[in-house]
Amino acid sequence: MKYDVILIRYGELALKGRNRDIFEETLMRSVKAVLTPFEKAKVHRSYGRMYVELNGEDAAGIIERLQRVFGIISISPTKRVASTEEAIKQGALDLIRSIKPAPATFRVVTRRVDKRFPKPSMDVSRMIGTHILRNVPGIKVDLHNPDAVVQIEIRNEGTFLSSETMPGAGGLPVGASGKVMLLLSGGIDSPVAGWMMMKRGVTLEAIHFHSYPFTSERSLQKVRDLAQKLAVWGGTIRLHVVPFTEIQTAIRDRCPQDYLITIMRRFMMRIAERIARENGALALATGESLGQVASQTLESMNTITHVVNIPILRPLISMDKVEIMDLARKIDTYELSILPYEDCCTIFTPKNPVTRPKPEQASRFERRLDVEELVNRAVEQTEVEEITTKPREAGAELF
Ligand code: ATP
Ligand code: MG
Repeated sequence: MKYDVILIRYGELALKGRNRDIFEETLMRSVKAVLTPFEKAKVHRSYGRMYVELNGEDAAGIIERLQRVFGIISISPTKRVASTEEAIKQGALDLIRSIKPAPATFRVVTRRVDKRFPKPSMDVSRMIGTHILRNVPGIKVDLHNPDAVVQIEIRNEGTFLSSETMPGAGGLPVGASGKVMLLLSGGIDSPVAGWMMMKRGVTLEAIHFHSYPFTSERSLQKVRDLAQKLAVWGGTIRLHVVPFTEIQTAIRDRCPQDYLITIMRRFMMRIAERIARENGALALATGESLGQVASQTLESMNTITHVVNIPILRPLISMDKVEIMDLARKIDTYELSILPYEDCCTIFTPKNPVTRPKPEQASRFERRLDVEELVNRAVEQTEVEEITTKPREAGAELF
């Protein structure tokens, strides 16, 4: 079957009024963005659906891209025929004959948007069902568990026929929920956290703390590659690379071993907050999961959070490592994340980090450092890179 229009279903049921408008406008922008390489394809919106007119462009390629656009619930490639009984009968018959392997059972579902069409939808379904039964030897109707569903939508622009529905990525379109600054390490967790935030409509910027020469250029490249995997789901990601060597060295030289990680994290938060504010991000996000390691206990999170005044979102907080790893595989970041390049934390990991750090203690040790000055310098020396997706990124398993 040669398709001419792709039908996009979208929308969270709970969205109303202004939120719904923002949702639709943002989704339209995302859809147009992924369709850029397909010059002849045209997208338009009507009555709570979006349509991509293929005008000869490749349906499979477009569907693959649409499946990475958050906000889309499902996608169907459709064939358009004239809104006449004869044309719909013939089109439905062609459609069911084109399905491989040939279905033993079917049902017809009709939606009549164009009320000028004289027959109500139930009658259309019955008429088309009868026509198929008469013309396809041996086929039967099964309303509950059919092999094939013939979907008919009668609209002002014509009648759309389809038999396939592919799942979309769900969530909200990227850009509908404002901007978040993700603390992106080279590990397994933070890329997944970033993906989960994007799924809720967030525009992501990322910040990475780099401790050259303790950590190599390759470990930074790994972070860029991870950001690029995330960009597949939401266009360009601005990556802020913070030089962190001076701070880490100062902490290591003047603070006790068991508080190194806690104090280092507090510096990360202070710097991330500053850079978030300068770039219009209203929250930070991390890949922390409760109890996963010593620095991710409630006491620890409390002590770390104490130094900033910006929400810190932790989308993985209640997830198990296995669940996080599964998701990392699905979004195709896992293989990159397990590459062995050291990150700044593994280099400075003390043997016995404190599991219940106290904010007062951390503050007391930090008095040995010029916190303001160290933070200012790191922020000043931060460099920004724009990470964009490759023209045709292969990989992520489709949802
Ligand atoms: P990940 O797998 O994301 O590295 P992790 O389990 O290794 O997480 P930690 O090392 O405790 O956990 O780091 C907790 C969070 O702090 C990370 O998920 C990330 O958001 C942030 N983080 C850690 N190191 C860095 C870094 N070098 N640059 C930016 N963010 C970092
Ligand atoms: Mg890590």
